[in-house]
Amino acid sequence: MDEYINELISDLKTYLEYLKGMGIVSLPTSGRKADEPGQSTMITLEEVRKELGDCKRCKLHRTRRTIVFGEGNEKATLMLVGEGPGYDEDVQGKPFVGKAGQLLTKILQSINLPREEVYIANIIKCRPPQNRNPETDEIQSCHPFLMKQIGVIQPKIICALGTFSAQTLLKTDTKITALRGKLFDLEGIKVIPTYHPAFLLRNPDKKREVWEDMKKIAELLGLGTSSI
Ligand code: URA
Repeated sequence: MDEYINELISDLKTYLEYLKGMGIVSLPTSGRKADEPGQSTMITLEEVRKELGDCKRCKLHRTRRTIVFGEGNEKATLMLVGEGPGYDEDVQGKPFVGKAGQLLTKILQSINLPREEVYIANIIKCRPPQNRNPETDEIQSCHPFLMKQIGVIQPKIICALGTFSAQTLLKTDTKITALRGKLFDLEGIKVIPTYHPAFLLRNPDKKREVWEDMKKIAELLGLGTSSI
């Protein structure tokens, strides 16, 4: 029972953070109109970044060089969410700028989307030591900020790149092999998980499946395609 209540509270907290991210800072009560002036003030990515500050909410702040907040178009219809910064991202302060990032740029080109048109972020904003997997407390510390970014951008589609991204956004333990290519809902936003570009570098035969997923995204966005 306690576990159920804790999960309920945690879900409610995430939902309220999401609403806050969309600029909804108070809920309507009976007798008061929801759209009264001042009731809904849209916030910007810059404000979310300011709130994050020189984050020390988890242990990763001790070893990171740079906070990799995310970058791209604040009005993007497609948002891509990876796992977390690696060496190159930690040095440059930008997401997906290493080898996996170069492949991601090519993948986007295949659906005629210049990288600048999308928004790219990660489940965690600081590089874990030796690129180890993100730990639960690290993911939880970062999650409200990712939800706020999603709330500001309000993309039509989120492409979840790899296991950590898909499992965190969809709150599931299901394997990426079973999730990829399927459409899910996150507060009214479509989520399509696919394989992580770093996984593709090690398993190029899986590119075909990512290509299928990208075609699906292109179709939903009304874009043309060319091969990866
Ligand atoms: N891998 C990720 O998941 N994110 C990055 O930003 C870079 C590599």
